[in-house]
This record gives sequence, C-alpha cells and structure tokens, in this order.
Amino acid sequence: MPKARPLTKEHILAAMAKTKSNMAAARYLNCSYQHYKKWAKFYESDTHDSLFEQHKNQSGKGIPKFLRIGGKEPALLDLIEGRANASSFTPAKIKYRLLTEGYLEEKCAMCGFQERRVLDYKMPLLLHFKDNNKKNYKLDNIELLCYNHYFLTVGDIFTEKQVEGIEDHKPVNQGKVEWEVDDYHLERLKELGLGDDDKDELNIISRI
Ligand SMILES: [Zn+2]
Repeated sequence: MPKARPLTKEHILAAMAKTKSNMAAARYLNCSYQHYKKWAKFYESDTHDSLFEQHKNQSGKGIPKFLRIGGKEPALLDLIEGRANASSFTPAKIKYRLLTEGYLEEKCAMCGFQERRVLDYKMPLLLHFKDNNKKNYKLDNIELLCYNHYFLTVGDIFTEKQVEGIEDHKPVNQGKVEWEVDDYHLERLKELGLGDDDKDELNIISRI
C-alpha cells in the first residue's frame, strides 16, 4: 500500500465545511479515520484545541438517533472485552462505533480492499465473526471482509433466489436484494446532502 499522503489544513477545513462529523470528513477525504484524526489534531483551530475537537459532533446533530452516543452507552471496551452483553445493542451501531472509535479499520482484512461506491459511499464489506458467535466482539474474533473474501472463506452472500433475482430477465425476487438501506447508510446519504428527510432519501434510492 502506498504511504498515506499528508493532509493540509485546507483539505481538512474543506472536508469540515461539507460534513457533520469527523468520521464523515475522513470519508469525504477518502482516507482512513486514523489518518484523518492524526492531521485534524495536528492543526490548530480558532475556537478549539484542534480542528479535530472543533468538528466533534457531540450532540449527534444530523445523525440518526440510534447512532448517537449518549451518557447511557456502555463503554465499547466492555463489549469488546466481553463484560457487556452485545444482544442489547444494535449490530449496526456497534459496527459504527468500532469504526469511528478506531478499533476496526474500514477495509478487507484479507486484501485491503476499501473502495467506496460513489453513489452512496458504501463499501462492500461484511463484519465476520470468526467463531460464528455474533455476540463475540473480541477484537481477535471480528474482521471486515470484502464480498469476494467473505464468499471465498466464509460462504454465500446471496441466496440462490437472490442470485436468480439479479440474473433473471424476468423481474423475480428483486426489491429485497438491491436497496436494503439501513440507518447507517441513510446517515451516509444525508452527509452527501441527498435529501433532508427520510422520505426524500428513500425516493432517491428507489430512483437509482
Ligand atoms: Zn478482500
């Protein structure tokens, strides 16, 4: 992998102007969160200790409620170290926090794939639990895999019926497969300025 390029203050300010959180700014710059964080912390801000502090979205403004990190949240570390039961939390939220808090890098653990679809910023990555226990968030048990590596090392991603829906010239089994957009990705769409309310976003999705 090529060495990540340094980010200038102008880069970061431009990304901040277009986004609502540091995570979104990193995505906007198409670099890893860790890399963004390093540089955003490096530059001073007029109002805060650093640009990173300035762009922290503590109130969760513009971020779906279920993704907000409030006072009642258990420390993610408790989940990772098995002290908290994962079943009380939304998997999408845990995944989001693993990424934003730097425990998991958003790329395939096997080949390093990390390209985003221009359309909605989604990456074709799936969270894989090595011991098949989807409540075991220990760091040595979880990894992100691209669709190819998930298919090759874990198993099918689509059911036969879904594949049929994708390939058949008749409209069978569609709908379900193609645009299942969860709140996490609605948030990404929101960051891209695609619509101000859920209804608009869904319309956009159905038009694609
Ligand atoms: Zn891969």
